[in-house]
Amino acid sequence: MLDSFAAGGLDKNSLISYLVKGRSLMFLYSLSWIAIFILSISYWFQIWKIHVHKEVRDISLTYNLLLAIGFGILGFTAYDERSLIFFVKQISTTIPVIIIVFQVIYHRDEHWKDTIGKKCEGCSKQLERRWKFCAHCGREAE
Ligand SMILES: [Zn+2]
Repeated sequence: MLDSFAAGGLDKNSLISYLVKGRSLMFLYSLSWIAIFILSISYWFQIWKIHVHKEVRDISLTYNLLLAIGFGILGFTAYDERSLIFFVKQISTTIPVIIIVFQVIYHRDEHWKDTIGKKCEGCSKQLERRWKFCAHCGREAE
């Protein structure tokens, strides 16, 4: 395309379509970087939530561990393919997921301190209001 343009053999219409195609590719490329930023920042909202509430009971360690491993491996693939955008995406999602894994491990014994909640008569751990059975020892809630 550029060669024929340089040689003067390019007509006006193909120059316009070349520029339009280039612009839409630039637009798509910019959108992709924005998407990477959004994806990366979404994990930091989760990290902040865990940091504030220290409650990780409902967050799956396995899920985040597998994500971290998968993202990490694809980071090497991206490096091998010399794809900057793919590489940045993998790094910017792998790091927060690893942090979440450590948060889940660090806070695994912390729970909401709900003062109005009942306690289990079997193991004296906190019961959620809707529980029919204790999640810790299996005893039926009164
Ligand atoms: Zn119990």
